[in-house]
Amino acid sequence: NEQILLKSRPNGTPTEENFEFKEVNVPDLKEGETLVKTLYISVDPYMRGRMSTAKSYVEPFEVNEVISGGVVGEVIESKSDKLKNGDKVTGMLGWQRYNAVDSSKVRKVNENLAPLSAYLGVLGTTGLTAYFGLLDIGQPKEGETVVISGAAGAVGMIVGQIAKLKGARVIGIAGSDKKTAYLEKELGFDATINYKTTENLFKSIKQACPEGVDVYFDNVGGAVSDAVTSLLNDYARVPVCGAISSYNITSLREDMGPRIQPKLIKTRALMKGFIVSDYAPHFKEAAQDLGKWLSEGKLKYEETIVEGFKNVPQAFIGLFKGENLGKQMVKVTHE
Ligand code: NDP
Repeated sequence: NEQILLKSRPNGTPTEENFEFKEVNVPDLKEGETLVKTLYISVDPYMRGRMSTAKSYVEPFEVNEVISGGVVGEVIESKSDKLKNGDKVTGMLGWQRYNAVDSSKVRKVNENLAPLSAYLGVLGTTGLTAYFGLLDIGQPKEGETVVISGAAGAVGMIVGQIAKLKGARVIGIAGSDKKTAYLEKELGFDATINYKTTENLFKSIKQACPEGVDVYFDNVGGAVSDAVTSLLNDYARVPVCGAISSYNITSLREDMGPRIQPKLIKTRALMKGFIVSDYAPHFKEAAQDLGKWLSEGKLKYEETIVEGFKNVPQAFIGLFKGENLGKQMVKVTHE
């Protein structure tokens, strides 16, 4: 059984040296457990936070321990009456080829409803994040302007489409022309901005939002968010989902922007952070909505699937370089 351990805590942007591959025996099963063969591994920006010791809503990964995250796999042996060989499951499992896991810690998924990979993205955590952040906090109304940063990522592209379903005008900010073209041509975003090439970010956003910004779904923080929040309308809502631009900074000084407080007071805007797991009691209804929109063709999604277990660290590091369109994950093949 091959595993990936956190070898050292990254200083700044993670590198391959922070990870270590190790060969161990496939674990024996205890009563109630099943052996899950890994098929897809999700790599996610939030995992960068778990690689440091900073206090957060999840415990840090330990050095020299197996990293864990979202996985889809197949049951190949079972000592539980709840799961049988061939069942496909998802859960928070180790970055390893095989996991022995208590059957209550994984959820069965149906590959007739959607491809297995979708359970790590649009029908998994990132889809749910988009759904609750936008609908519970953002609450877009017909005709309002919704701006999304990280718009071509796993969360962002779902946010934009749900906002369109709610009748909003949707503006996406992303880091390449390929991504912005995809958002406009394939997903029907009303306007897009490439934040890496635009000469004046503030001006471009202002031009794309002649009536100001009613909802800003923030995936990135930093300079992009400084520019968007300066355009908030009265009673705007800002779901603060992620701040990937600051995940690799090594000193707070690198992360200073304009103070937002006067703007919040003037506009009476609401800015609210959230963690998708806060909404766990409502996951079922949300997954039903997302599944329905998918089957009706109202929701599309994109995935960037890197092949091979050995490429998991690279796929993770790639998130910080914007290598992915949509959900970034690794397909694990077994000889
Ligand atoms: P994405 O699929 O959006 O991948 C990350 C993307 O972030 C990259 O493709 C890149 O796109 C962009 N990016 C990387 N570095 C920067 C930077 N310095 N400035 C601006 N953009 C950058 O990831 P997810 O959809 O999985 O996650 C999006 C955000 O949501 C993350 O911040 C994540 O932490 C957060 N999140 C929060 C959850 C919650 O419960 N609150 C749950 C899940 C995710 P580009 O080419 O456009 O730069």
